[in-house]
Amino acid sequence: MRTQVELDAVRDVEYLKQKLDVVVLLDWFMQCRRLLPWRAKNPNPYYVWLSEIMLQQTQVMQMRPYFERFIARFPSIFDLALAEEQEVMALWAGLGYYARARHMHRAAQIMVSQYQGLPQDAKAWSCLPGVGRYTLAAVRSIAYKEPMPVLDGNVLRVMSRFLAVPLRRGQISDEKKLWQWLESWFKTNSDIIAAPGDVNQALMELGATICRPVNPECPVCPLRGSCAAYKYQTTDQYPLPKEKITIKKIKIAALWCVRDSQVLVMRRAAQGLWGKMTALPCVEHLDTWAQAPVQIENLLAEWGVQTIYQIKKIKRTQRILTHRQVDLVLYQVDAKWPLLRSLKSKQSQDDEQPQMKWIDKSKIDTCGLPQAFLVLVKNI
Ligand code: SF4
Repeated sequence: MRTQVELDAVRDVEYLKQKLDVVVLLDWFMQCRRLLPWRAKNPNPYYVWLSEIMLQQTQVMQMRPYFERFIARFPSIFDLALAEEQEVMALWAGLGYYARARHMHRAAQIMVSQYQGLPQDAKAWSCLPGVGRYTLAAVRSIAYKEPMPVLDGNVLRVMSRFLAVPLRRGQISDEKKLWQWLESWFKTNSDIIAAPGDVNQALMELGATICRPVNPECPVCPLRGSCAAYKYQTTDQYPLPKEKITIKKIKIAALWCVRDSQVLVMRRAAQGLWGKMTALPCVEHLDTWAQAPVQIENLLAEWGVQTIYQIKKIKRTQRILTHRQVDLVLYQVDAKWPLLRSLKSKQSQDDEQPQMKWIDKSKIDTCGLPQAFLVLVKNI
């Protein structure tokens, strides 16, 4: 019997070209795909682009209501380009990875001003903010039928198992090799050339619904006839686990500053966590929680607050955000508040728009706070 190493050595792009039956894969996709608002016979490139951006780091079921709300408010690229950034960010609130929303908004403005709409040309798409290799290939293949493969975590898992080749997500050399194999396969297979977007979506759908990270449903998989990992019962060996990344721990004190029935919110600076989002004022870079009250007093002094009645810890939550574990504690601050125009924040000096405002407490859930803050202010 051949060893696994020998098996790995013979499975490459030629195996893929000869053994992966595209017609069977597409038949399965047409029958079993989830019906989603951005999937259509003639897909709307704006919908495809938005869905692909929203789906990065986010599951379909979690993202779908956001997509529907976004499209209802901004039905076209022109509506998005004309929107206030704060409104775009508010509709994105809760999805995380907020740079995606800022890039989309900026890209929409560029498209409208330079191309009077969605550009036809792939080069123009590739220059837009937030459009990397994955997004470009997804939009161009699905909306414009160009034979460009996509490579995400689902596709890598399916390929690693189908070929029984130990690929690792995030390993540049592995991803580069697989991109090359997929590109070669896409250029030479007439069934793919006829429907490249469907093939890409089929592979991603297969990875999301059947060839899952654990307990893949091989007996109902359309690729099982030629899948090397299934044949040798080694699906649990592929792909290789991701390299462990170091999670940085950070402490942030969020301030619940109340005046009558109003609460103070501010727009965050462009750089850093929750960039340009509306949030509660914060004291960041705390080494210990013991420092928090003094640091809060310092911030209030910068704002010109002269009378503080009380600073009280009222709630705590922890979140994992892109390699960071955020320990977020909510402090209620009772003080004699000066006029808004005298409230200044170091965190927002570089932004031209009004930074701080009092809003009615009843609007705190809908003002566009990131999810971490929504958890903190719930039922207060
Ligand atoms: S047969 Fe199993 S391991 Fe192979 S591609 Fe299908 S679900 Fe994945």
